[in-house]
Amino acid sequence: MTTVPMSMVEAVARAVERLSRPGIDGWGLRVSGGMEATGELIDLSEHVGCTSDTCAHVSHDPAAPRRRWVPRSGRIVELGSDEEPGEVIVRWFAHLGDDGSVRYIRLDEPRFFHAAAQYVTSVPDWALARLAQGAAV
Ligand SMILES: [Zn+2]
Repeated sequence: MTTVPMSMVEAVARAVERLSRPGIDGWGLRVSGGMEATGELIDLSEHVGCTSDTCAHVSHDPAAPRRRWVPRSGRIVELGSDEEPGEVIVRWFAHLGDDGSVRYIRLDEPRFFHAAAQYVTSVPDWALARLAQGAAV
């Protein structure tokens, strides 16, 4: 590798560190329901998808980066996932706060549309019950 300025080496190291933080990933991910305040969205990739100016993007969403929501505190545990009719992957998470709190998150990943996540008040029993079977928490 050719010699690069130390400031660039540091910028690279910071970028790698930011991208290594765990969170919830999705194509074109948007968050709502309070998640805007408790974490930040970072871009993980270049734009992926349809970039046509003349396409109305009816059967799909336009190009977007893969994004990750990273909680400002606490950690995320995935509880389970499901494929619902309409080719939508639904994934359930628990956000465990450092203060012992728990909030639940639902992530919708439609095959051809941007992903969306939000805090929800309940999780299906089948997803929660997996924790009783020894899933790591
Ligand atoms: Zn399009």
